[in-house]
Amino acid sequence: MIKMLFITIAEYFDKIENVSSRLEMTDYLAELFEKTNKEEIKKIIYLLQGQVAPTFEGKEIGFGEKLIAEGISKATGFTRKEIEESFSKKGDLGEVVEEMLIKKSQGSLFTKELTLKKVFENFEKMSLREGIGSQETKIKLLAELFNSSTQKEAKYIARIPLGNIRLGVGDPTIMDSIAIMIAKQEKNWLKLKEEEKRKIKQKLREKIEKAYNVYSDLGEISEIIKEKGINGLKKVEIKTGTPIRPTAAERLPSAKEIIKKLGKCAVEAKYDGFRILISKDDNEIKIFSRQSENITKMFPEIIEAVKQLKSKKLFIEGEALAFNEETNEYYPFQITIQRKRKYDVEKKAKEYPLQLFLFDIVYLEGKNLMEKPFKERRKILESIIKENEIIKLSEMKIINSAKELEKFFEEKISQGLEGIMAKDLDAPYIAGARKFSWIKLKRSYKGNLDDTLDLVIIGYYTGKGKRTQFGLGALLVAAYNKEKDLFESIAKIGTGMTEEILKELEERLSKIKTIKNVRIISELKPDYWVEPKIVIEVRADEITKSPLHSCAKEETGLALRFPRMIKFRNDKKPEQATTTNEVKQMYSKQKKVSVELFGQKE
Ligand code: ATP
Repeated sequence: MIKMLFITIAEYFDKIENVSSRLEMTDYLAELFEKTNKEEIKKIIYLLQGQVAPTFEGKEIGFGEKLIAEGISKATGFTRKEIEESFSKKGDLGEVVEEMLIKKSQGSLFTKELTLKKVFENFEKMSLREGIGSQETKIKLLAELFNSSTQKEAKYIARIPLGNIRLGVGDPTIMDSIAIMIAKQEKNWLKLKEEEKRKIKQKLREKIEKAYNVYSDLGEISEIIKEKGINGLKKVEIKTGTPIRPTAAERLPSAKEIIKKLGKCAVEAKYDGFRILISKDDNEIKIFSRQSENITKMFPEIIEAVKQLKSKKLFIEGEALAFNEETNEYYPFQITIQRKRKYDVEKKAKEYPLQLFLFDIVYLEGKNLMEKPFKERRKILESIIKENEIIKLSEMKIINSAKELEKFFEEKISQGLEGIMAKDLDAPYIAGARKFSWIKLKRSYKGNLDDTLDLVIIGYYTGKGKRTQFGLGALLVAAYNKEKDLFESIAKIGTGMTEEILKELEERLSKIKTIKNVRIISELKPDYWVEPKIVIEVRADEITKSPLHSCAKEETGLALRFPRMIKFRNDKKPEQATTTNEVKQMYSKQKKVSVELFGQKE
């Protein structure tokens, strides 16, 4: 097979950048995937994710805008100042290098043909460089790529290391496109009816997602499919060192409703810290975040404690949080999150030691435990964990009635915890999904609008008055429509940000401005659209019907009343934001509560 040229990819990326619907986007991507061999598809998927390896390997290309600008300068001969000026106008280094190469190419006659392999190799080399002297090498490797690329290729080469290729391609789109690629190999594909085609694609998509849930590496999954077909995925199994996709909790507004749903169930304290997944393979311990990042280095004390466990191979999950030994209380989340850092980890570990509360086990000594009911997994967990200063089991109780649940809840609240988690005793571990096997009940649920929402910023308005100095007046945010893989507007947020947050917002948002992305659905038009990347936590008084917003349009649109930004949720991907379905559920729960409390009817 002829080696894939990078220009083929850049051309497809260009088509994808200019599509008007998500369907077109997946079709183009599927078409590109069809042209690849197993190594190429893998590489393209990583590059689409702004990486050279799956997230959990932690191989960052490690480029900031400054280094890229240096690379552009080295390759084109334009000065840093000229590049910066152009960047401040365009807001995208991809377009900057494109323009500079157009100007420069008047002088140069030809460029060498660039292969995908070469581009990938150079980025891989960059990811291996760290420390003193590494920057020079990185700039050289990047400039080398620019020197042998056309303008179109250079545009994407500049964007890849920033992890922002600006195509709006998320994991669900990649999975859809792989499914289409396989479906098209079906006999008589072109003659099939649309409904039949849809069913075939859906089945394939489910199989891909099932594999992805236990093995968070879409690159490798695509490679297996190319080599062995969809049946090759049957052998994809949970394995130490490779994170699974975490399960998530549903919410219900009262103890009564939880018991109605689950009957006899387990209740646990809900700790407000970091959710971590720990893999142990003898003495090799790895810790992953819920976004599958490798965050091992941030938890030295937990690593040491896990090493002491007798079991050789396991995957356990829990919540780590900072504990104040003097007052015997947990610190708030803002303190725990300080551990999320690259430097001075040891110092922070001394200042705010963490405790780990384990609440699940999904793998032990070569055996996948995910299909086992929760009550059995918990027994296994209890049998292998010997509690100590650092490692504990989450506090758990089996209850039968709403009264007991209510009592446990009040007890936890009075201890300063944020609520409880109820768990279905018979449910398997449902990776990658939010189902009623876990139900959370929090302090704030009692009464009108219960929980906060995690929403994705899709645009912003420039401010007036005091805020103008930050160039930011209000945010336009969206919920995630999981079925359609789209971001639907739900609120405009003008208040609740401290100056510090405003500054950070402006800095981050100005880097991800975009011409409207096809996955954004909004009738309101902000001054600037941004790539749906940043997730924030939002509190509001109520969910109301509103034709202005696109969330749950079939119900005339749902919106938030008096929304306030609380904090960044950097631990969440946009696809992990509150979904349109959850908003609908919250809306109907809220209606129900208000009918119960005030006897109102709509
Ligand atoms: P929230 O903002 O309510 O934490 P979320 O969207 O971040 O919600 P969910 O998956 O809905 O996350 O809520 C479950 C989270 O609660 C888990 O991700 C985990 O981090 C945390 N948690 C704390 N204590 C427990 C426990 N005992 N069992 C399971 N999860 C727990």
